[in-house]
Amino acid sequence: MIAINDLRRLHLPYRAELLDALTAVVDSGWFVLGERGRMFEAAFAASCGARHALGVANGTDAIEIALRAAGVGSGDGVVTVANAGGYATTAILACGAEPIYVDVDAGTMNIDIQLLAAALSGGPRAALITHLYGRLAPAAEARRLCDASKVVMIEDCAQAYGACVAGRAAGTFGALGSFSFYPTKNLGALGDGGAIVTDDHPLAERVRCLRQYGWNQKYRVEQSGGRNSRLDDIQAAVLSVKLPHSAAEIARRHGIAERYAEGISNAAIDIPRRGGESDALHLFVVRCPARDALAAHLAAEGVQTDVHYPVPDHRQPAFAKRFEDVALPVTERLAAEVLSLPCHPGMTDAEVSHVISACDAFRG
Ligand SMILES: *Cc1c(COP(=O)(O)O)cnc(C)c1O
Repeated sequence: MIAINDLRRLHLPYRAELLDALTAVVDSGWFVLGERGRMFEAAFAASCGARHALGVANGTDAIEIALRAAGVGSGDGVVTVANAGGYATTAILACGAEPIYVDVDAGTMNIDIQLLAAALSGGPRAALITHLYGRLAPAAEARRLCDASKVVMIEDCAQAYGACVAGRAAGTFGALGSFSFYPTKNLGALGDGGAIVTDDHPLAERVRCLRQYGWNQKYRVEQSGGRNSRLDDIQAAVLSVKLPHSAAEIARRHGIAERYAEGISNAAIDIPRRGGESDALHLFVVRCPARDALAAHLAAEGVQTDVHYPVPDHRQPAFAKRFEDVALPVTERLAAEVLSLPCHPGMTDAEVSHVISACDAFRG
């Protein structure tokens, strides 16, 4: 079976370096918010071109803490999309805020900028712009619209580490940018992890408080809404080993995506135009009206696939009543048609060729 991800294979080239880094943390005797965490934060901030980066426990916490730092609280509206796996909704609801869903563009599968403009006129507190599948959303334009409406913009970059436009990285368009280091992400830890980047010093200090009980110094709670969400030094050390390799890994993703785009010629499968520096190619997502049949065919051909994501946020069973009146036609159609093909840096050329011929053999 050609796996959608192969984390064991991905880490083999770094095995010795990783074990050295882990040993160094064990020997240091310092495991939470230590020197290795600070070193990683500095390296990560520099790689994004941001002034500050703060490690947190995971990417969902990163969204929630960024929202809280931006002043989002009970009853506030937060504009977001509903096709990005539910993490945004989880974080928004955790703040006591209300998601205001807008539909996505059918071509890019990212937020529809016209619909964003319309939603901003409703007076939300914040807009959460997700760069889905690694492809940059129209973030510069979104920021202009948000500024004009005095709405704070936050970017969810969990899938977009490494994406930029004209040298400006995902996460640096909004007031704050959130990242996930879940193992399958473009920059993945050996466990959970996340980060928030910002250029704004007061916002960075708020994040620093909020991630640790609201403390501005030990045992002194300065900010309400604080919690415990820290990136531990083991994961920071792992991420410092992997950071310098991530550009090469993303380049490998681009190579695979190019071969798919050139190689798959089945008219039943819609291959989105992807690539360029604005696309970190976290997931290679095709569209097919007979999606489930295609997935079954590929599985029979030894190709594992996945669906990102099958249930839009507003249709999740837990929230069904709450968002009953929300209709997002493009989001709903995409949920029935999207299929993610294996596109991870550990794939061999022969595996890529096999995926292409398996796709072309589909009769939908
Ligand atoms: C993975 C992901 C998150 C959440 O990250 P976790 O570290 O798993 O909490 C948030 N948003 C998007 C778009 C993601 O893909």
